[in-house]
Amino acid sequence: YETRIPVEIAGEELLARLEAAGVEVESTEETPSFGSQLLSFAFVLLPVILLIGFFIWMSRRASGGGLGSAAGMGRSKAKVFDASRPDTTFDDVAGYESVKAEIVENADFLRDTSRYAAAGAVTPRGVLMTGPPGTGKTLMARALAGEVGVPFLSVTGSSFVEMFVGVGAARVRDLFAEARRQAPAIIFVDEIDAIGQRRHSNAIMSNDEREQTLNQLLAEMDGFDPAVGIIVLAATNRPEVLDAALLRPGRFDRQVTIPLPNQLERHAILDVHCRGKSLGVDADLETVARRTPGFSGADLANLVNEAAIRAAREKRTVLGAEDFEEAHDRVLLGQRDGSNVLLPEERHAVATHEAGHAIVAALSPAADPVHKVTILPAGQSLGSTHQVPLHERHLYSETYLLDTLAVQLGGRAAELEAFGQASTGAANDLATATTIATKMVREYGLSPRLGPVGYASGGPMFLDQGQAVQGRPYSDETQRVIDQEVTRLITEAQD
Ligand code: ADP
Ligand code: MG
Ligand code: ZN
Repeated sequence: YETRIPVEIAGEELLARLEAAGVEVESTEETPSFGSQLLSFAFVLLPVILLIGFFIWMSRRASGGGLGSAAGMGRSKAKVFDASRPDTTFDDVAGYESVKAEIVENADFLRDTSRYAAAGAVTPRGVLMTGPPGTGKTLMARALAGEVGVPFLSVTGSSFVEMFVGVGAARVRDLFAEARRQAPAIIFVDEIDAIGQRRHSNAIMSNDEREQTLNQLLAEMDGFDPAVGIIVLAATNRPEVLDAALLRPGRFDRQVTIPLPNQLERHAILDVHCRGKSLGVDADLETVARRTPGFSGADLANLVNEAAIRAAREKRTVLGAEDFEEAHDRVLLGQRDGSNVLLPEERHAVATHEAGHAIVAALSPAADPVHKVTILPAGQSLGSTHQVPLHERHLYSETYLLDTLAVQLGGRAAELEAFGQASTGAANDLATATTIATKMVREYGLSPRLGPVGYASGGPMFLDQGQAVQGRPYSDETQRVIDQEVTRLITEAQD
């Protein structure tokens, strides 16, 4: 009987037992062959090799596959508007003459650097366009790309942001290197707040990747030689979150605000968007412009489109006044609800409520005239009273605000008069009235008890202000006075 057994396993014990049993043992030690040695080595190494392979595969997959991806990850995705110029021109951007002039002037620096150099003027490095959404910032940049005779590199702020730290910075470097190669050139960074946000000293809030990207941007904007001729144009809705270092002279040294359009500009924007559409004789864009305070360029474009859709639905090619009227209601209130969902007594209540608004508006000398009252449900509202200012206002007097409060509460007051009780229909009115009254007291200094103090709400400058105000700069005592004053204003308005 012959067997092979590793020495480690056999050991003394086995030998002892074999001897005790009187077995005749004859043993020879065998040196392992080279092949078997290699095999056992491979068994040890195989899992390690597999693991390493797995990691390599994972990291390739994460970076987007392909062998060259690790190197290409940092490349900027700037779209160069050079060969294919956008066909947008300044003709497509209505109004905003001063903004256009400002931006063109900056581009002009690039066309003729020597003239400015002769006068000892240094070309500005950056121009920041700020303003509410939809006022045509991106449009303006596209138009500029179409008009100037220099390369135009366009990127959005968010395209710098990536999962890996350092990629954004590499992209910024690459973008500026590209611009330097093509100089004189314009770099346009849309929605710059994605990378330009204020850096935090707070460890919990810090974001390495964004900070590195921002630091790189700061360095690049400072670093390039002014003679090279690169101008950075940027746009944002949230200038208040931008890092202060970004806004200092030498970086974005020019800020252009693009506000909501005024009545004349609204008219011009409507004209631009009605180009190529046939308007009926009764369609009056001036009236539409007058009725749309607070609309942005994008809202107006949408309104014109809604009017055209409505005409097309009725198989007409000419847009009439009615189309604009309907489109306006639709944009403002939402889709009109065709189904007759209200109970008769509900409809009576809504009619009473809206009549209340209308009567108070008619009787308040400072309030805007009533344009239209409707009790056809649309969107969230059951009815609405629409007031249109005679002239566009830029300043609101105290009497105007008080009358506005009264009009807001007129609906509920009418319900109280007619039915002896209020309903849930006034919730929106009350919320609006409370917001106005709170602002009157807290921001505009219109409360005799609080005196001429104003606490800015500190919310986003151009975006809708949320209700939440974190951290009050005044005491609880002041808050109590504010609450009382708000209640007083609204109660007086109701009376
Ligand atoms: P944002 O300021 O948010 O970048 P955009 O430039 O994207 O706004 O504008 C959105 C749309 O609104 C444009 O595509 C255009 O149709 C319309 N618009 C905005 N401003 C104007 C304007 N001044 N003239 C003509 N159209 C405008
Ligand atoms: Mg934009
Ligand atoms: Zn109401």
